[in-house]
Amino acid sequence: MTDPFVVVGGDAAGLSAASKCRREDPDREVVVFEQGDWVSYAQCGMPYFVKGEVDDITDLLSLSPEAAAERGIDLRRRHEVTRVDPDEKTVTVRNESGTFEQPYADLLVASGARALSTPIPGTELSGAFTLHHMDDTAALRAFLVDDAEAESIASVEYVDGEYVREYGARDPPETAAIVGGGYVGVEMAEAFAAHDLDVHLFQRPDQLLPPFGEAAGERAAETLREHGVTVHLQTEVEALVGDDRDHLMAVEHDDGRLQADVAVVGVGVRPNTEFLAGSDVDLGPSGAVAVDEFGQTNREAVFAAGDCAEMRHAVTGEADWVPLGLTANRAGRAIGQTVAGDREPVGDIAGTAAVKAFELECGRTGILDHDRAWDAGFDPVSETVTAGSRSGYYPGNAETTVTLTADSQSGRLLGGAIAGEDRAAIRIDTVATAIEHEATVAEIERLDLAYAPPFSPVWDPVLVAAKVLRGTLED
Ligand SMILES: Cc1cc2nc3c(=O)[nH]c(=O)nc-3n(C[C@H](O)[C@H](O)[C@H](O)COP(=O)(O)OP(=O)(O)OC[C@H]3O[C@@H](n4cnc5c(N)ncnc54)[C@H](O)[C@@H]3O)c2cc1C
Repeated sequence: MTDPFVVVGGDAAGLSAASKCRREDPDREVVVFEQGDWVSYAQCGMPYFVKGEVDDITDLLSLSPEAAAERGIDLRRRHEVTRVDPDEKTVTVRNESGTFEQPYADLLVASGARALSTPIPGTELSGAFTLHHMDDTAALRAFLVDDAEAESIASVEYVDGEYVREYGARDPPETAAIVGGGYVGVEMAEAFAAHDLDVHLFQRPDQLLPPFGEAAGERAAETLREHGVTVHLQTEVEALVGDDRDHLMAVEHDDGRLQADVAVVGVGVRPNTEFLAGSDVDLGPSGAVAVDEFGQTNREAVFAAGDCAEMRHAVTGEADWVPLGLTANRAGRAIGQTVAGDREPVGDIAGTAAVKAFELECGRTGILDHDRAWDAGFDPVSETVTAGSRSGYYPGNAETTVTLTADSQSGRLLGGAIAGEDRAAIRIDTVATAIEHEATVAEIERLDLAYAPPFSPVWDPVLVAAKVLRGTLED
């Protein structure tokens, strides 16, 4: 075996690529370097483990190191790639014993992103978390539960037991501060509330979940408040403050100070691309790696996928960076197939996402923001409607808010958002499919969607929104 496919990063994108390559080309040598202990872990499930809805942290793992080995993947944990040399076709790898050079025939950069916590001072304090790593997730849950449960979390294989026990030994927190009202912040509000904490969520903009549009943001804030969460909009957290043991004790914000003993900072992520410095691999404006439709970078045989890479946006046709789970899995899988000899495009993105705030579900796709639509050369018009989720007489019918945005010149649908309590989020997939196929609002209005009282009214809420928006476009 002389043509190794080398992968940097052992999670969604990296292991999807490695598995697909081995399946398509069982003789290919596939080496995956992962800097940490954990591989193939579901970051998306972390808030639900903290909440207690997912019982066992190992349920968040989809491929164990043993299962990877059975697939013929040479998976090396605690190996950090520190440098890439596309001229020599080698990567430099650091492990406990030192550094070595690994040659590659094809290289995939699947190094993901990391949570941002700066420029807020105090994020290093004990009790202040970002939610991106499994050990932080384990420690946070151990902080919230009783001693016996904390010990059972600390004893799980791969968990940093010492770190987790530190939190298990502390008195459980009573007040939680969440910095950031994006999807991590909203999911964590629900998680903390499940442990009966006094929960405060701080958001600098004037609405929660900005990418989901105004209507969804308002409904999310309303739902959080109904569940006892104090939502501080247009409030900037300036510092996390510690006591003399460097335990978090307060949050200072531009409207005052809150005593708090646990905080989660969810203010965005940044792609892990520093180790590419000097490699001449081009980065896009977002700082993520620039790639073509096959996930290939400007350097021969160097690919990138997942949270560290840009993708082409289905609406604008331009490169964009929207780090999400399916994008990582799908691009990784396509690249695995390409390097195995059968070229497969990584696909476009529409930024399709869903989030739950207690019983409220929100979904979004495409471009809703009018400034962004203008910048992309469209003339955007939006309408928001509220319609029933089922026939009015059928139990479970719930108000569903749908926003659709279209280009007034062509009638093409540009984006959509949905919020409601009855399977609202998943309805966004209809809109996402329409966007990818460049459907007009009139074409959406004529879609043959399913109707039966337990599932939908005769006019699905998406059809109602299309009908109203078409009327506006024709006025
Ligand atoms: C709390 C939370 C909730 C989320 N919820 C959702 C959701 O509901 N829906 C959704 O679509 N997405 C969600 N996401 C995003 C989703 O989890 C990511 O898009 C996905 O994990 C990206 O996969 P990836 O393989 O690109 O990167 P990662 O999962 O970040 O994996 C990259 C790996 O590379 C390793 N690595 C980095 N640098 C090096 C190096 N130099 N050498 C060796 N190894 C290295 C890292 O240790 C890491 O294990 C969520 C994320 C978080 C944090």
